[in-house]
Amino acid sequence: MAANKETYDRILNELGANVELVAVSKIQPVKSILALYNFGHRDFGENYVQELVDKSESLSKDIRWHFIGHLQTNKVKYIAPFVHLIQGVDSFKLLKEINKQAEKNNRVINVLLQLHIATEATKFGLDKEELQLLIDQIQTAGFNNIRVMGLMGMATFTDDLEIVKNEFTMLKSIFDIYVKIDHPLFNWKTLSMGMSDDYKIALSTGSNMVRIGSLLFGRRIMT
Ligand SMILES: *Cc1c(COP(=O)(O)O)cnc(C)c1O
Repeated sequence: MAANKETYDRILNELGANVELVAVSKIQPVKSILALYNFGHRDFGENYVQELVDKSESLSKDIRWHFIGHLQTNKVKYIAPFVHLIQGVDSFKLLKEINKQAEKNNRVINVLLQLHIATEATKFGLDKEELQLLIDQIQTAGFNNIRVMGLMGMATFTDDLEIVKNEFTMLKSIFDIYVKIDHPLFNWKTLSMGMSDDYKIALSTGSNMVRIGSLLFGRRIMT
């Protein structure tokens, strides 16, 4: 389903000038992306490497592609030439590969580190201690081709808004701990949290990047 202009404008209005919108276009056809592109939107998020590569080849080069899924180390090379922001990095091994592929492509790739804030065991991400360890490792690793922009996280899938709010509040407080990092590999400013069902809570707890799919495009129909 194509995004409608009223919904798009309403969301932009709710977000205000300081919160970025990533339109999550996974499973959506190219023509739905184009409709939003024609409203002036440029940031799109995809979860699957092959789908992202195919779409990037058939769409305008000025789109900023966000990879928001779980990225396997052996697939980094396919998106390294063009990806704008890899959200959801949760291991040193993956970061090392991103740095290597970025170097091959003569560019710097922006990443967010993914924190595990939900109670579900299935979601990827680091806990607080692992995050600290990874940040220490990055500072001594001597990478030159990545830039760590901040954190991303997903709340528990639940109707209990109090739980979601607590998880986002925790993520924001951890984000704030690292704001003062003074290191060339860090440009700590992005906190990616909030999706169609919980972005309003995310906004109220300090998000500055939301990832919205179904609210913009309609429910994903899996074929
Ligand atoms: C699918 C997805 C979204 C968007 O979900 P909606 O509920 O459709 O807005 C956001 N973030 C991630 C990581 C996703 O996988």
